[in-house]
Amino acid sequence: MKTGGHPILKDLVLIGGGHSHVAVLKSFGMNPIPGVRLTVIARDVHTPYSGMLPGFIAGHYVFDEVHVDLRPLSQFAGARLYHSEAVNLDLTAKMVICNNRPPVPYDVLSINIGSTPRVDEVPGADQFTTPVKPINNFVNRWEKLSQRIMEKPGKHRIGVVGAGAAGVEVLLAMQYRVKQMLDQRARSGEKLEFHLICKSDDIMPAFPPSVAARFGRVLKERGISVSRGTAASAVEYGLLKLDNGSSLKLDEILFVTEAGAAEWLGRTGLKLDENGFIAVHDSLQSVSHPDVFAAGDIAAVVNHPRPKAGVFAVRQGKPLARNLKRVLRNRPPRPFNPQKSILALVSTGDRYAVASKYGLSVEGSLVWKWKDWIDRRWMAKYTDLPEMAEEEKSSVDPALGSRDTLKEISAIAMRCGGCGAKVGANVLTRALSELKPPERDDILVGLHDPDDAAVVEVPAGKVAVHSVDYFRSFVDDPYLFGQVAANHSLSDLFAMGATPQSALAIATIPYGIESKVEETIRQLMAGAMAVLNDAGAVLVGGHTSEGAELALGFSVNGFATRDQVLRKGGMRPGDQLILTKPLGTGTLFAADMKRKAKGRWIDGALESMIQSNQLAGRSVHQHHATACTDITGFGLLGHLVEMIRPSKVDVHISLSSLPVLDGALETVKMGILSTLQPANVRLRRAIRNMEETTSSDLYPLLFDPQTSGGLLASIPDQHAEHCLKALHDEGYEKAAIIGKVEPESNQLEPITFVH
Ligand SMILES: Cc1cc2nc3c(=O)[nH]c(=O)nc-3n(C[C@H](O)[C@H](O)[C@H](O)COP(=O)(O)OP(=O)(O)OC[C@H]3O[C@@H](n4cnc5c(N)ncnc54)[C@H](O)[C@@H]3O)c2cc1C
Repeated sequence: MKTGGHPILKDLVLIGGGHSHVAVLKSFGMNPIPGVRLTVIARDVHTPYSGMLPGFIAGHYVFDEVHVDLRPLSQFAGARLYHSEAVNLDLTAKMVICNNRPPVPYDVLSINIGSTPRVDEVPGADQFTTPVKPINNFVNRWEKLSQRIMEKPGKHRIGVVGAGAAGVEVLLAMQYRVKQMLDQRARSGEKLEFHLICKSDDIMPAFPPSVAARFGRVLKERGISVSRGTAASAVEYGLLKLDNGSSLKLDEILFVTEAGAAEWLGRTGLKLDENGFIAVHDSLQSVSHPDVFAAGDIAAVVNHPRPKAGVFAVRQGKPLARNLKRVLRNRPPRPFNPQKSILALVSTGDRYAVASKYGLSVEGSLVWKWKDWIDRRWMAKYTDLPEMAEEEKSSVDPALGSRDTLKEISAIAMRCGGCGAKVGANVLTRALSELKPPERDDILVGLHDPDDAAVVEVPAGKVAVHSVDYFRSFVDDPYLFGQVAANHSLSDLFAMGATPQSALAIATIPYGIESKVEETIRQLMAGAMAVLNDAGAVLVGGHTSEGAELALGFSVNGFATRDQVLRKGGMRPGDQLILTKPLGTGTLFAADMKRKAKGRWIDGALESMIQSNQLAGRSVHQHHATACTDITGFGLLGHLVEMIRPSKVDVHISLSSLPVLDGALETVKMGILSTLQPANVRLRRAIRNMEETTSSDLYPLLFDPQTSGGLLASIPDQHAEHCLKALHDEGYEKAAIIGKVEPESNQLEPITFVH
């Protein structure tokens, strides 16, 4: 995270990357506050822009045109992006409790999590309908739904429950798209039936009557039947029951009814309104907790109630950012008076729209073009981010701190390093106090009974296997980085067939005030310990110092029987080569730094990096591997050469079989490569058919340095397919047979790549 090298004084945590928080992120990117650390906890890394969702359904836009990618936006803002879901708050300890990581502490908190469907009020709705809200993942739900419609030949009966703007817009967009899809498949003759269920006396009750009249006409022209003044009372398979006693036979039912608030907020102690939404002042500050703010659908502005619509969430972004900055600087927030009348632009699915303001309305295809222009301009604000000049190293904003914290900051600047830049004992003790390494009888002296050094027992008949790795953090999340670093270090043991026993940690923590340093260590080591504990490796000690950048490494120790140790040099002609994880982490994270990687690509890469090689190691050993190594900094080719030389063999690699992480091909095509790449490329002289190989788009990935990469194992031909199946069954979905070991030739270059 780009903290500009300043010590951290305050933590601003944002829950949810909704329409208001994207504006907060942009604002912090444009005007950061030195000394404030920003963290976004987001369940979904791609935020759909509600205004364009109907256009997406209608097929006018593709996924990336209607989603703000929080990853590059967070990079721009200098924010840490935690892909996680908040499930509670500890308002006393000022912590956000998450579903898949340790609690995240805050000084100031802001919540923009949208609303959730209320399908539980109608019996059967949760089982037999597709809820439109939350809008995240609606894209997946829509894809499944349209697929179901296309798979079924004949008559299609589709109902939408809820006749607000969203319900009407979604229905019209769906009708347009489904018709188009049937036309494309030469199935225009199939009958399409659409129904709209409207609880109020007329559709779109929140809009002026002229707008409802226009849409009433459009619905009629498009042959859509509208049931007015009746609500859904129950749903059964293929049947929607209404409270007027009638029922409709339907193949697909969508619920676009009023949404509710997340149920977990009820457990937090925040003051909520009668519907469970967070009650906030005009300043968007919680009425019960001044250090908590809320915006968008989830906020209920006590003095200015407004419908739950994306447009209000958008409007609140700017005042929210301003007020968050004010309270961080110990200033009172300012009230925000939302406009009474807003410009509403609602589309009819066929590149036609209705605009309304102050009770007046107009319609036409020009209105749609206008809406399209406004929507694209909004998206561009968060996707076409300006290049900012490197931040000058100004000092921490003095308005942030109390006298004591500012004194602490001056003390950090004066640190001499004569203490070996060691982190203070108290800070370490507190941060590590919650870590619970498993107990093992062969750990004689470890963290449970600390001394100058750890003492471990080596079982009779076993040999000790040692390895060490250490590197700088490339992600802004210490918990995740801890997991990656531990997995990366342990992979050496798994490749050699050793069983981990213990580990020593070496960590560098960025300078900061004590409470922030302590928290970083806690998160970092919690991530690492989760991995070490799973692997059965007891953390027995370590060393932590302060420095400019977060870094972590482990010296890992394991045991194996002497004849079980698997070396790089045992490959035999006829063996098949199996790679257990896809390539591409180097280029993807280089792209991430430049804000050129999509959030979902980085998510995929991180998922791969935190996958332990333990089961893979076991599998390749069980399938009689003759040689094995883990793919790390030298890239596939470098590590392959390390295996080939001592094995005295040649290899043929199939380029088309190489597993590759999503996005890696795109980023190498952009010319984005890791800084280690040039050193790795020197080994290209090991390639026999250079011309053919360089013509492949995959060529740069052969040298791409991997962090916590997969194992590369040489497996006897008769066991290779079974081994691959076992790897797939164990969750190494992209594991692949990538080539074959050949007898050593008299050529200088041992590696041939085939397409
Ligand atoms: C089909 C459809 C069309 C619509 N069209 C329009 C329109 O044209 N104009 C309009 O004004 N409104 C429209 N709306 C309404 C609009 O979508 C919502 O009002 C709007 O999305 C609310 O914005 P928000 O910022 O409050 O939350 P959201 O946009 O819903 O964002 C909330 C974010 O928080 C994240 N999140 C949720 N829970 C957690 C958690 N526990 N921890 C971490 N992260 C979490 C989610 O992943 C999400 O990214 C439409 C709604 C639908 C369903």
